[in-house]
Amino acid sequence: MKAKEILKTMKPYKPGKGIEEVKKEFGLDRIVKLASNENPNGFSPKVAEELPKLISHLEIYPDGYAAAIREKVADFINVSEEQLIFGNGSDEVVQIICRAFLEQGANTVMATPTFPQYRHNALIEGAEVREVPLVDGHHDLEEMLAQIDADTRVLWICTPNNPTGVHIDRKTMTSVLDRVPEHVLVVMDEAYYEYLESDDYLESLEVLDQYPNLMVLRTFSKAYGLAGLRIGYGVASPEIIHALEPAREPFNTSTVAQAAALIAIDDQDFIQKSVKENKDNKKALMQFCDENGLTYYDTQANFLLIHLPISGDEMFKHLLSKGFIVRSGEALGLPNSIRLTIGKREDMESIQEEMKQKIAPGVK
Ligand SMILES: *Cc1c(COP(=O)(O)O)cnc(C)c1O
Repeated sequence: MKAKEILKTMKPYKPGKGIEEVKKEFGLDRIVKLASNENPNGFSPKVAEELPKLISHLEIYPDGYAAAIREKVADFINVSEEQLIFGNGSDEVVQIICRAFLEQGANTVMATPTFPQYRHNALIEGAEVREVPLVDGHHDLEEMLAQIDADTRVLWICTPNNPTGVHIDRKTMTSVLDRVPEHVLVVMDEAYYEYLESDDYLESLEVLDQYPNLMVLRTFSKAYGLAGLRIGYGVASPEIIHALEPAREPFNTSTVAQAAALIAIDDQDFIQKSVKENKDNKKALMQFCDENGLTYYDTQANFLLIHLPISGDEMFKHLLSKGFIVRSGEALGLPNSIRLTIGKREDMESIQEEMKQKIAPGVK
């Protein structure tokens, strides 16, 4: 037997610790997971109400075209239905893009650290991965542009960037789009779009017509709180979508995920409430950091990358023993830091207290 050679050098995705695992290990009854940027408010109660109805016909294959949610999303973001592709999470859309656009002899340009699935899927397709280090948490876009050549197929731009949370301003983004050669697909991953507060942001969907090589990714996993159901989508010109479609599994999004997303999109009150709470709790966390001499990146997402005077692994272990699961910067390629998802107010207050005890023991 012989698997692809590249797989020998790769590791499967290592998820953050599971809640049950941590409960058992430390004998705790309650665990707060602030590791995967999930919505601390859960998901729309309207979805919960409808859920029993959604599971009534599990023997029937899903609608492979995702017609109802397609119509809903097209209407909601004001694009045509032919401009959409749905995936089992936007993760799968990343995979589809790589399957369709990348192969041996081709290369792809991205930042590092950024969302790891661009690199992972590109390597499996045999493409050369050109990673450009972040500068102060920001994409080094000039260097990324300089890395593009005739064999470049895809440029990945994550804004706001995971794991730093910083976004790209309007002028910079426009200037990049103006200069990327036409033969390169630009993928803007906007998984945290709903949380953006800055008004200095290029509304990517409004410029799709201007840039025929632009594709935007969105998801129902973060602000919409439906990570467990797996549904996200890509938006681009009908030509790009057409090129991607053969690389998509026929029934890649489930009946339940499609139906839940349909209801979730209509409950914008839930999104607004989540975004508002995120904003308030993030502000309080930043204030805590300021008061305790901790620096952080200026986030536009639902998480904060905090620099520490100790290793991220050490803080991670300390917080874990107190029932908080966070992401250690060491695991993300940013040593001496942690990435903390903004949680509920009471939980944020407790975790701040625990962090303080670790960096300045005994201080009240
Ligand atoms: C969470 C995340 C995604 C993936 O979300 P799905 O659950 O697969 O839709 C994509 N991109 C970034 C930057 C993310 O942080």
